[in-house]
Amino acid sequence: MRRTWFAELYFFFGLVLAALLGGWSTGGIAWWLLAAVTILMVRHGWQLRKLERWLGSGRQRNPPESWGVWGQVFDDYFRLQKRYYKRKKRLGKVIREFRESTAAMPDGSLVLDGQFHILWFNAAAERMLRLSSKRDLGQSLSNLVRNPRLSAYLAAGEFEQPIVLRSSVDETRSLSVRIIPYGSNQYLALFRDVTRMLRLQAMRRDFVANASHELRSPLTVLAGYIDSLADDPGLGIHWHKPVAEMQQQCQRMSSLVGDLLELSRLETEEPDPEAIDPVDVSAMGARIVREARLQDAEDHQVEFHGLAEAGLLGVERELHSAFANLVLNAIRYSGSGGTVQVTWRLEDNGQGVFEVSDNGIGIEEKHLPFITQRFYRIDSGRGRSKGGTGLGLAIVKHVLSRHGGLLEVSSEPGQGSTFRCVFPAERVTVEATRDIAQT
Ligand code: ADP
Repeated sequence: MRRTWFAELYFFFGLVLAALLGGWSTGGIAWWLLAAVTILMVRHGWQLRKLERWLGSGRQRNPPESWGVWGQVFDDYFRLQKRYYKRKKRLGKVIREFRESTAAMPDGSLVLDGQFHILWFNAAAERMLRLSSKRDLGQSLSNLVRNPRLSAYLAAGEFEQPIVLRSSVDETRSLSVRIIPYGSNQYLALFRDVTRMLRLQAMRRDFVANASHELRSPLTVLAGYIDSLADDPGLGIHWHKPVAEMQQQCQRMSSLVGDLLELSRLETEEPDPEAIDPVDVSAMGARIVREARLQDAEDHQVEFHGLAEAGLLGVERELHSAFANLVLNAIRYSGSGGTVQVTWRLEDNGQGVFEVSDNGIGIEEKHLPFITQRFYRIDSGRGRSKGGTGLGLAIVKHVLSRHGGLLEVSSEPGQGSTFRCVFPAERVTVEATRDIAQT
């Protein structure tokens, strides 16, 4: 028991003893006891009143003077109150600093509650979205920024990737929107003006597309003349090697221009829903393997196993280009006589998988994150000498993303590589009865 309780008990028993002694010496013990209880009640009533006046007086006044349990209660409460004010001050400082830093940000920042109602926004958001703190605080974000894409984005609740919207204030501007969940059921919405960045990207894409297009015609003319020269029986023997070299380089440049045009088309053109048809992947895989065998000068063993009853909803030309790139790479990067396995199958969860595996040179793990970047080559001499353009896997990645698919790569240097194109079940079509096609 704490010391203060002893003081309280001494006081109580002292009063009772005094009442008993008074009653014993003068008689009328009941009156004496009543007087003792009254003194006790008055003390506690008086202390309660002090407490009530102290609490009612608002913040941070020194506690009233008292002794016994009441003194302890006043002191303990005062300590708690001091701790509470200190924490409140610290939190207030953190919130002030957060608001000051976000207020200074060039991006529009909004704090939203769990239902995406606006709790706070900075000056940039006010400008970008034409908000007013008097009118718009507490309003739903999708009511203020009227855009079906934003409403769908908020409803889906998947905020890993930002989305890009046309500004509702100025149609010529594009805004990227990122939602960051934080705390318990709150969100930070960041709006960034990406108009300039998108314009630069579009300019770069247009430049590459135009340059490639312009290069195509002179290249065709050059290739025509060089082919005629090569076929000319009167060509001096010392010209055979240079002309063959010219033919090879022309061929390389044509492939490069072709791949550049294909890539810029995939990047700039929105996927056309009209061009999506059921594609017979087994027939396509078998055709690609036949074509690859014809081009293969090093006698690889290329095999295809395909589940004929399964197809894909997609753009045939794009899928052909992606799958052929993978098969040609497997041949290009495995030694003479190597084995290449090509399969088309369904996973248990319904996903479609087009897989190309080789037992070739393999890829070190450190290169794997970069191999789908354009012109990324692990061994540039080897890639070029084998006729690669450095754009094949970038094309594959774009085609897959246009088909809702993903590229998975596993590889072991010196052992070989496996490239897996994984398509969602919604893209897969399954026919009732057909056998497994093998070539
Ligand atoms: P390239 O035209 O040079 O083949 P890609 O974009 O198709 O360009 O491939 C990028 C790089 O990835 C290649 O240069 C090569 O180093 C590596 N690569 C691609 N496929 C394979 C494979 N099957 N085995 C080993 N390395 C590969």
